[in-house]
Amino acid sequence: MKAVVVTGSNEFEVEEIELLPPKAHDIRVKMKACGLCMSDHHVISGSMPTPLPCVIGHEGAGVVAEVGSAVTRLAVGDPVVLNFSPSCGKCAMCQRGLGLYCSSFPVEKQLAGLQPDGNVRHQRADGSPVQSFFGMGCMAEETVIHEDSAVKVDPSIDLTRACVVSCGVMTGAGAAINTGGVRPGDSVAVFGCGGVGLNAIQGARIAGATKIFAVDLSEQKLELAKTLGAEYKTDKRHLFNQSIIHS
Ligand SMILES: [Zn+2]
Ligand SMILES: [Zn+2]
Repeated sequence: MKAVVVTGSNEFEVEEIELLPPKAHDIRVKMKACGLCMSDHHVISGSMPTPLPCVIGHEGAGVVAEVGSAVTRLAVGDPVVLNFSPSCGKCAMCQRGLGLYCSSFPVEKQLAGLQPDGNVRHQRADGSPVQSFFGMGCMAEETVIHEDSAVKVDPSIDLTRACVVSCGVMTGAGAAINTGGVRPGDSVAVFGCGGVGLNAIQGARIAGATKIFAVDLSEQKLELAKTLGAEYKTDKRHLFNQSIIHS
């Protein structure tokens, strides 16, 4: 199958590589859509140290094509959104509501492009291993991931839109709702209105923020921010003026 493989700093190409069969708790996903996140670009540029060669792509959605022998939560044909930050729901950290630090899915292995068992699921024809970014490697025709790294979604949802939930939406909305703990009546400023920032605005709005300030240098992004819930917008010049007034 074909996959986008990064082989060096600013070096990548579409390669024909092999997928290993799903293990007991794995699923094979036929990819339908994949976003290009800045983190993928960091792998390409080399600014995010990642073992190479590596299949990029971690913001994906697709359809389950095969399940491992112990998989019960998902079935062939299920539409799924991939999740590069899975949590088991059973360990001490998960029980405390800190699924991001789940001990079953250590971030070190994800950053090393490995599956939770410490192995890869991609290889070249000569048998040499190929890592998968964040354990996903979904900028490809197919990928094999742990079943907990996929969330079943309603079949009526357009997967070309759902794929961005996989990173941009959950990162931005999660920053406002979970990390920032925005509560009804709060005033919120979101600095940077790209894919993540726009979803932080939406998350703040959902959490009940009364005033949401969008801060960016791009007038185009600020206009988009207003359509997604920001009621106030400002840019660097206005902030500079404010800092003078307040000093
Ligand atoms: Zn991302
Ligand atoms: Zn856990």
